[in-house]
Amino acid sequence: MNLAEKHILITAGPTREMIDPVRFLSNRSSGKMGYALAEVACDLSARVTLVSGPTALTLPENVNCISVVSADDMLNAVMKLIDTVDIFIACAAVSDYKPAEMAHQKIKKTEDNLTLTLVRTPDILKTVASLDKKPLCIGFAAETHNIEHYALNKLKEKRLDMVIANEVNFEKGFERDNNAATLYHRDGRQLSLEEMAKNALAKHILSTLALWF
Ligand code: C5P
Repeated sequence: MNLAEKHILITAGPTREMIDPVRFLSNRSSGKMGYALAEVACDLSARVTLVSGPTALTLPENVNCISVVSADDMLNAVMKLIDTVDIFIACAAVSDYKPAEMAHQKIKKTEDNLTLTLVRTPDILKTVASLDKKPLCIGFAAETHNIEHYALNKLKEKRLDMVIANEVNFEKGFERDNNAATLYHRDGRQLSLEEMAKNALAKHILSTLALWF
């Protein structure tokens, strides 16, 4: 597949789920992998839209960037554009849970224990991959253990075309400039890429995408 002129929509970064006006639930995702994919896809002449959660990164030039905060915002931004998208790459580390209700005033400390009720956030990738007219759907599996097992489960369960699995812990994955990954195609093909700069990894991922589909 030639990526030139294809509309590639990439989600990146973490989401923030507000607990009260000053506190949120989130994760350690830096957004670096998603931003690298957006830059490389742009260099390959694709039309790129980046839907990004809050990060400390500079938004890439020549890319249509949409900044969002929560998983619900990210879903809305993605669904507004999805009809025009050829390839959807879900790189964001979307929070799995959000507070059942956001307190409208700062929660004051009173008791020794505070219980928060959390509810699931929408699964953006699964929602897109379930559409009748769906783009090519690529997901990430960032795992601390049983990486291949969870990656293959996601491929099947979310009905993806490809899943990119990588290990995350305090030394690997999140916040780093480098990453290693294994790509799993829906037909069983796989490719292991050793640790390299996220930009180089993005080039491998996009050229594999162009080759495999
Ligand atoms: O969180 P999980 O391990 O299920 O993430 C796998 C893939 O699904 C990732 O590509 C992630 O961007 C996507 N995802 C999503 N919406 C969620 C959870 C995950 O798009 N709520």
